[in-house]
Amino acid sequence: MRGSDPFYRDTWVEVQLDAIEENIKNVRKRLPKQTAIIAVVKANAYGHGAYEVAKTALASGASGLAVAFLDEALALRNDGIRAPILVLGAARPQDAPIAAENAVSLTVFQTDWLTEARQHLGGQKLSVHIKCDTGMGRIGVRSTEELKAVEKLIESETCFSFDGIFTHFATADEIDTALYEKQYSRFREMVESLGTRPPFVHCANSAAALRFDQTPFNAVRLGIVMYGLAPSPEMKAILPFPLKEAFSLHTKVTHVKQIHTGDTVSYGATYTADQDEWIATLPIGYADGWIRKLQGQEVIVGGEKAPIVGRICMDQCMVKLPHAVPVGTEAVLIGRQGEYLVSVDEIAEKLETINYEVTCSISARVPRIFMQKGQKVTKVLNFLLAK
Ligand SMILES: *Cc1c(COP(=O)(O)O)cnc(C)c1O
Repeated sequence: MRGSDPFYRDTWVEVQLDAIEENIKNVRKRLPKQTAIIAVVKANAYGHGAYEVAKTALASGASGLAVAFLDEALALRNDGIRAPILVLGAARPQDAPIAAENAVSLTVFQTDWLTEARQHLGGQKLSVHIKCDTGMGRIGVRSTEELKAVEKLIESETCFSFDGIFTHFATADEIDTALYEKQYSRFREMVESLGTRPPFVHCANSAAALRFDQTPFNAVRLGIVMYGLAPSPEMKAILPFPLKEAFSLHTKVTHVKQIHTGDTVSYGATYTADQDEWIATLPIGYADGWIRKLQGQEVIVGGEKAPIVGRICMDQCMVKLPHAVPVGTEAVLIGRQGEYLVSVDEIAEKLETINYEVTCSISARVPRIFMQKGQKVTKVLNFLLAK
């Protein structure tokens, strides 16, 4: 069924695995030798493709992986990934056995959860990391008393292996470091209150790993910088090395026509031509995550900027061209073409959101092509035609 490109539509994401490798190696160089890198590949590696990113990260200096949900960890195991995987979010106690069977570590923070999981586990051994809520207000133990109770339960049961403790910062990417410092010392206090120090003590996300000394701990959890994106606009100015963006979004023109004064484009007829103009149709729409709020955004078609005119439809949108181009001309919606660049940050700004949300939102309908050493990697991730 499949041709050499296993997708049948000219819209795709290109992921530069070399950029991911370079970003990780640059972080690696700046970390203490004993600090392990946990590559965060949740949400399909922020939309980049979890399996390929995981492989690349592990080959570039990461020694473990983290995801948000158990399903994401199991998908990586099914694809043959053998490295340690930590589920950062809350899992269900009844799913503890499947995590144990697949050597997936779970995040724990409630004694009730542990008691219930123990009943499901039987003789199996589950690896756990304790989560401390030092100020993020999401999940985790909030006091040393709670922490001690959780630790005691873990240590008293042979079905649990106490492999780590961690916390997560709410403001590590902001100029003001007051809350960061508060969380940091809170975490150190909590770690010091433990009866036993587990093998992994980790707190830094990308922003903290780039900005603050990690010597008291022995692992960092890298997400956004791995993908070549700054953790925040404020941090862009203080990055210790240039990041290489790995993600780009492409399509090809499916139709070109000249419209005339008074002609309208798309639903609601919100755009009216005030002269003769060239309009191209692109086969990408809000169902691909190219959402309606991007109306007016410029894309690059045949090396020239072209604004999106009229409403973005579910599967298509229209752009105004400076002149006619042939059908099949490539358009870049995110990334570089010729002298122009549309960065993920530019799209984030247009959408009044953060770069994280942009790459995550390009939907599973868009196939991912992976590039390594300037060559297409054979495997293409097409969720529609997978397996
Ligand atoms: C997503 C996440 C990370 C990665 O954060 P980045 O800012 O992308 O580096 C680290 N830790 C936890 C708990 C997370 O949820």
